[in-house]
Amino acid sequence: MSEKLARLKEIIGEVSDLGHAASVLSWDQQVYMPAGGAEARGQQLATLGKIAQEKFIADEVGELLEDLKKEFPDPETDEGAMIRVSARDYDKARRVPTSFVVEQALASTQAIGDWVRAKSQSDFSIFRPALEKNVELVKQYVSFFPPADHPYDTLLGDYESGMKTADVQEIFGALRPKQVKLIKAISEKKQVKDSFLQKKYNEKKVWDFSEKIVSKFGYDFTRGRQDKAPHPFETTFSVNDVRITNRFEKDQPLATLFSAMHECGHALYELGVNPAYERTSLASGTSLAVHESQSRMWENLVGRSLPFWEHFYPELKKTFSSQLEGVSAKTFYKAANKVEPSFIRVNADEATYNLHIMLRLEIEIGLVEGSIEVKDLPEIWNAKMRDYLGITPPNDALGVLQDIHWSYGSIGYFSTYALGNIISAQIWERVNKDIRDLDEQIRKGQFGELREWLRVNIHQFGHKYDPQDLMQRVVGSKIDSSAYVRYLTKKYGDIYEL
Ligand SMILES: [Zn+2]
Repeated sequence: MSEKLARLKEIIGEVSDLGHAASVLSWDQQVYMPAGGAEARGQQLATLGKIAQEKFIADEVGELLEDLKKEFPDPETDEGAMIRVSARDYDKARRVPTSFVVEQALASTQAIGDWVRAKSQSDFSIFRPALEKNVELVKQYVSFFPPADHPYDTLLGDYESGMKTADVQEIFGALRPKQVKLIKAISEKKQVKDSFLQKKYNEKKVWDFSEKIVSKFGYDFTRGRQDKAPHPFETTFSVNDVRITNRFEKDQPLATLFSAMHECGHALYELGVNPAYERTSLASGTSLAVHESQSRMWENLVGRSLPFWEHFYPELKKTFSSQLEGVSAKTFYKAANKVEPSFIRVNADEATYNLHIMLRLEIEIGLVEGSIEVKDLPEIWNAKMRDYLGITPPNDALGVLQDIHWSYGSIGYFSTYALGNIISAQIWERVNKDIRDLDEQIRKGQFGELREWLRVNIHQFGHKYDPQDLMQRVVGSKIDSSAYVRYLTKKYGDIYEL
């Protein structure tokens, strides 16, 4: 190996170790840490972050990257891809002054506190000054980068490399009228039964069942574990240690099963990355949207399918015989796919979910452009909810204050959720062409061939290809909503007899 490449790998490896050590601390913070540990943990994470940043933005790294770009010009090779991705990260990190990073971190700590209070009192005015500050900082962040077609491009690009605002607007623009039409058609039909989902379920039994499902998916408990945390998430410490968390809510007992499948989908992606990429810039999923396509696929296309429940339902019914008495697999499947416009994004069904995202995207673009002011957000939010979903949030907690993202200054993130849904359906059509009897396999509880297909075609590449390039390789086209529309139309056509 070239001496310069070895040196770059050494530095990036150490930066990656520091990042993973910080991830362990964050995981502990959310899973085990007593409340009293918060202040010290904040300092520890800040110190690790600072050391990693200093190491990474050193002049030596820039010089190595410049030389190595000439030495490895072919982006199709692992080395070429590694250098391209590191150089992009390096350029970004160098453009943003450390003083700004500190200011943004302090502002977001303040904003998270204000947001929590505002949400608990359902009063947007408590959050407004902090959000105004965050929006100003985001605009300042954009100013550190060369002008793009649209100022929002810079923010979006941090999550979806190569995606532009206009691309996402085009994709969503094509999808929106179709989803609105579908929801309207469903609303005119008889609602499905789901009262049996609101009964009392034993927490431990639900938890154990969730682990049974993800084990069958192929989540390897010798390289991961599932712990309890307030918000379900997946976190990676190495290619052989990928954790998931989950929660149990009394009023939505079976949501634990779907959360486990979702986080398992993220984890399988990380566990499937080529081990040779460990401690390099390629050692993770390529983007949030592609990551979300994996979690949504296991949660929805697999976990909310009829074949899936034809396999798992008999055992579920045996485990919860009194709650599910007289309920057939088909009835259970329909309940798991109930469509109902609702206020809260994270609880939204597949048919309405993307509309929650489109509303947020339009608001974010408006804030960044300056065509929307923070003070008007509650009204704008509610008007859009009426337009898209036909319902008006009764208060700010169920409306504009529901998500944490804007409090920590994340603008540009939301659309990746909807893009993930769209991508999952494109990949699913492709998988089904290659695995002709996939439904039959799922009905038998066999997931190995599907998991292996995803590993070979997507997971192993980690960060090697940008999202749109990966899609081109895997499905032969860029991100496009037509497969998702076909999927929704067929599924809900059957369930609601449209
Ligand atoms: Zn997710």
